[in-house]
Amino acid sequence: MQRLGKNLGAYFGATIDIRAVLRAIESAAAAHHWASEIFHSERDFHWLALHRPGRPGGKRIHLSAGIHGDEPAGPLAALRLLQENRWPDDPEVFLLPCLNPLGFVLNQRGNAQGIDLNRDYRNPRTAEARRHIAWLERQPQFDLYLCLHEDWEAQGFYLYEQNPDGQPSLADVMVAAVQPVCPLDLSATIEGRPAQGGIIRPNISAQERPDWPEALYHITHKSRQGYTLEAPSDFPLETRVNALVAAVQAALAHK
Ligand SMILES: [Zn+2]
Repeated sequence: MQRLGKNLGAYFGATIDIRAVLRAIESAAAAHHWASEIFHSERDFHWLALHRPGRPGGKRIHLSAGIHGDEPAGPLAALRLLQENRWPDDPEVFLLPCLNPLGFVLNQRGNAQGIDLNRDYRNPRTAEARRHIAWLERQPQFDLYLCLHEDWEAQGFYLYEQNPDGQPSLADVMVAAVQPVCPLDLSATIEGRPAQGGIIRPNISAQERPDWPEALYHITHKSRQGYTLEAPSDFPLETRVNALVAAVQAALAHK
């Protein structure tokens, strides 16, 4: 599969009508009986937290997308997962399909003020991060978080693993599930970090970082294992959605 070669210095690929995508997400969630909570509103947008109960003893999973407004595959993957409705019975899923709708209106990484929400989870100055954190504080602990992202510079799909307690890793099963549907980034260095087979296991001391991404909030406060999934946005949008959906389904199905 060839790269499109469109992204010169930023993302210049396909964009989405975020209002239409969010309407479709709401109707798919309602059709499949997800509970829906609005945890923030601004202009005509509602920030949704969707909930699907699992079975007793099942894992509790926080799945979030759309924190960067120039990464359309995340919300589209959330929509596809809802529409296909092939969720395993066991896990309880909290799905936050779009954390930055105002960024999508502008097709930009940051919010309407240009602030990168994914650097605002330690001492939040944005309403979006503050309201998400306030919602998180009302939730139980999660067994797993998955953050859906895209990278316009990537050679292929890759992921970051946070697993400080050395629990059984889901990285290999996710990468194996993505490999048939989307190229992997097999570079030895990705985003300046050592990588192997599309997997980055960063050594991050949260306390030393002033600007937490969402994942560092999760690993510090809510969850002891999680993954940031990065689809390569120089490939066709459909391919990137396929990659994120395949990775999420593999993680959810894994016992
Ligand atoms: Zn991102």
